[in-house]
Amino acid sequence: MAASPSSPATAAGRREFAVSVVRRLQRAGYTAYWAGGCVRDLLRGEDPSDFDVATSATPEQVRSLFGQRHTLAVGASFGVILVRGETSDSDVEVATFRTDGLYIDGRRPESVQFATPEQDAQRRDFTINGLFYDPLESRLYDYVGGQADLERRLLRAIGDPLARFTEDKLRMMRAVRLSARFEFELEEQTAQAVRQMVDQIGVVSAERIAQELRKIVLHRTRRLAIERADRLGLLGQILPELIEARAGSSHESSPAGQGPAQAWRQTLDALDALNHPTFELAIAALLDPLPRRWGRAAGGRKAEGVLRRLKLSNAEIDKTRWLLTQVGAIDQLPSGPLWQWKELLGEPWIPELLQLERAQRLARGESLEVVESCEQFLRQTPAEELRPAPLVTGDDLIRLNFKPGKGFKELLRELYRAQLDGRLVRFEQVPELLPQLMGDRPAPPAADSRQMPP
Ligand code: ATP
Ligand code: MG
Repeated sequence: MAASPSSPATAAGRREFAVSVVRRLQRAGYTAYWAGGCVRDLLRGEDPSDFDVATSATPEQVRSLFGQRHTLAVGASFGVILVRGETSDSDVEVATFRTDGLYIDGRRPESVQFATPEQDAQRRDFTINGLFYDPLESRLYDYVGGQADLERRLLRAIGDPLARFTEDKLRMMRAVRLSARFEFELEEQTAQAVRQMVDQIGVVSAERIAQELRKIVLHRTRRLAIERADRLGLLGQILPELIEARAGSSHESSPAGQGPAQAWRQTLDALDALNHPTFELAIAALLDPLPRRWGRAAGGRKAEGVLRRLKLSNAEIDKTRWLLTQVGAIDQLPSGPLWQWKELLGEPWIPELLQLERAQRLARGESLEVVESCEQFLRQTPAEELRPAPLVTGDDLIRLNFKPGKGFKELLRELYRAQLDGRLVRFEQVPELLPQLMGDRPAPPAADSRQMPP
């Protein structure tokens, strides 16, 4: 049965399509192999997230073989053609064997030249990413010693690491991400080259850095990656505010007697304790030293500056900043009124805040009681009780002769809180409640009772 266009392909389906792409190229007389990350993943016994094919066919030849309608030129200047599968997740990128020309700016090659498989392997970043596999012959082509490094669990740059990082500085972040992801050692000379060149990471675009950071913090091995980035000096280059906050977070906001090293260990432990976090949640956990150091409001603003520099989306920035300014707020709930519970727990991003609170408490060896009370409250409180439609609106207040302006919004908020508390159940209670709620605010001229809604 054919898959509908919207249903994702199975791992077997994607693999089958990737085999068919190689078969078609080979039958037309070209050399064609699976290449790079997918070969690495297969040798590790994992399902590759995507298959890349490397071939001797030129981009034009690939397009005429598969047809214009089934192909898309994605990296025209690099000779990369997307061959479309039945669903987009089975698309296969077909790239012509090439060598990259000079890297003028440390970011991308100025030109590419079509080349042999062996030369193509040499332009790739790490030995474990430099493998080819012929799925028809079940044959591995290893020109860079990638198989041995996979067995030794070692991430090693292909060729001279300094030269490779000079060509493309993003590879320094890839080194951290990939070595952590597989829990491999970073080969010593490769690590040394990162240390030596780390201050040049700034030439890489914010978008590419953010994309790597995203993959790093979303992965289960995020703690190892952050520790490694820290030791290599990469963390300080990308997130200098974090290093500054960490150094100063021993006093003020941290529990008495706790030094910066211990506070940082707890941040890492919390990061580690997150279970399939969203990107915003993971970044908030990482940036926790900012509010600890500068207080919640100022720390949140600092975090916003960091995230703007990384060119994250407004939605991501807003949520992360909210999380950082709310962290710790649940501690006030047990001694607070009902409206306070509903107001905070009714916030849209509360599930992530509670995950953050849980992770941080686990990291500090603290009780989870408050977190669990919040979770229980959420389970027991239907949405219409948590966030009911307001019983009294601004229009109602105007009908009661209140003038929009100073105090108006506060009064509406007090009325809503009274409603959340159960002190305000019916509209008729409003007149008797108003004097209490207004405190020392001036009352409006006596309301005309005929203007009251029924
Ligand atoms: P992931 O599983 O995260 O996709 P990957 O290694 O497959 O990791 P891709 O970005 O999909 O990464 O790249 C596919 C292959 O292209 C890599 O395995 C590597 O051979 C090569 N490659 C990718 N980025 C670079 C780079 N910056 N420099 C050199 N080679 C690269
Ligand atoms: Mg890949």
